[in-house]
Amino acid sequence: MKEEKIYIIGAGISGLIAALELEKEGFFPIILESSDQVGGRVKTDVVDGFLLDHGFQVLNTAYPEAKKYLDFQALHLKTFDPGAVILNSKESYIISDPMRNPLKIMGMVFSKVGTFLDKVKMFALTQELKKKTNEEIFNTPSLPTLQYLKAYGFSDQIITNFFIPFFRGVFLEKQLNTSSRMFEFVFKMFSLGHAAVPEKGMGEIPKLLRKQLSTTQIYFNTAVKEVQGNAIHLENGETLLADRIIIAVQPDKVMKQLQGQFADPRKVINMYFSLQKSFLARPMIGLLNEGKYVNNIVFMDDVSDAYCSSDRSLLSVTVLESDLEEKELVKAVQSELEAVSGIKSEYFKLIKTYQINYALPVLDDLKYTIPFTECKITDHVFLAGDYLLNGSINAAMTSGRIASEAVVHSYMPTH
Ligand SMILES: Cc1cc2nc3c(=O)[nH]c(=O)nc-3n(C[C@H](O)[C@H](O)[C@H](O)COP(=O)(O)OP(=O)(O)OC[C@H]3O[C@@H](n4cnc5c(N)ncnc54)[C@H](O)[C@@H]3O)c2cc1C
Repeated sequence: MKEEKIYIIGAGISGLIAALELEKEGFFPIILESSDQVGGRVKTDVVDGFLLDHGFQVLNTAYPEAKKYLDFQALHLKTFDPGAVILNSKESYIISDPMRNPLKIMGMVFSKVGTFLDKVKMFALTQELKKKTNEEIFNTPSLPTLQYLKAYGFSDQIITNFFIPFFRGVFLEKQLNTSSRMFEFVFKMFSLGHAAVPEKGMGEIPKLLRKQLSTTQIYFNTAVKEVQGNAIHLENGETLLADRIIIAVQPDKVMKQLQGQFADPRKVINMYFSLQKSFLARPMIGLLNEGKYVNNIVFMDDVSDAYCSSDRSLLSVTVLESDLEEKELVKAVQSELEAVSGIKSEYFKLIKTYQINYALPVLDDLKYTIPFTECKITDHVFLAGDYLLNGSINAAMTSGRIASEAVVHSYMPTH
């Protein structure tokens, strides 16, 4: 198998898993990665002693594929407290565990976000989804999430106060148009597991996957221009001939004939500020349900001390949409933060803004998995990547595993 030239385009989560699985079958894959590091959309920078993830994202400890491929202890996972702090200009309050133990939330507290019937429905939904397999969830007819929540009978109160701000931050879109399949999957994951980040940032996830590779070579700063048949044309003018190619990046980037086949992806802006001290003082997501720009915030050092080597706190702010220039946006965000915290806006010191133009794929038909035969597009070319299934680390892992199965199968004798 050593002599087989198997190239994987992209060292994101899906490409790394494909390589891992191919190694298990005795292959020696070669990954071509345009950037200078592994991880793709899951990366962490170190800036002035702060760890800055490229966009606020979490690993859910209930993700089945993550449990299979990641040693959670080696990552020193730090979990968030379940639930959220609801922040508005008049008051702030904690909804402690709505997707795991809704019946345990005190009536008085719950009444601020929803009705007694909402509470019972939350409980019913957790029970219902725990009984459904992930495959069943993704085979259920799909509705836009907002419509699904209304059809389920949730009140406008809980939809506005909790579901909208929470799931906007997950789906990275304001209208909750994302498929109810994704809603059910995420809700189930939150009711079974915890949102978590590795102690030293999300970038530790791909680094740990890379450490598990032994016979794979990775060529960094090697951008692929085009795949034609079994030829890979690189941006630097070279051409590589492959026995098999796994395209672990949205394929329109390297196959001209597929251009225009994909909807524009979800974008997001992630801003990092330092502040003398966290005003949440707990490892919890804060939701600004009245914010025009800020959707959700987290003090990362409340979750893991290692995110901050100074004595200041690190605030991660997620902005879904903005028509402002960066300077104006910073001011607008600072004033929304002042409104919910009472802390003067100038105390929030901007560290860095990430404008992420490709955060999540926009898909019509979300899937949990596909048969490996579906990711083979020619005798030489196979596909991997979250865009085949749904926008999540779990899906990226699944797709990498399936692509490698397809490659392995392609070497089996046909009868
Ligand atoms: C802000 C944000 C928040 C998110 N939140 C969550 C979350 O909370 N939970 C969750 O589960 N998921 C979340 N996700 C989604 C998750 O990160 C992705 O689903 C997953 O990382 C996708 O992995 P991938 O391998 O499919 O693609 P990518 O990570 O996009 O990997 C593609 C790789 O290919 C490389 N590449 C691109 N073009 C070329 C080329 N021409 N030649 C060579 N290499 C190339 C890229 O540099 C990259 O390394 C979030 C993503 C973002 C950005």
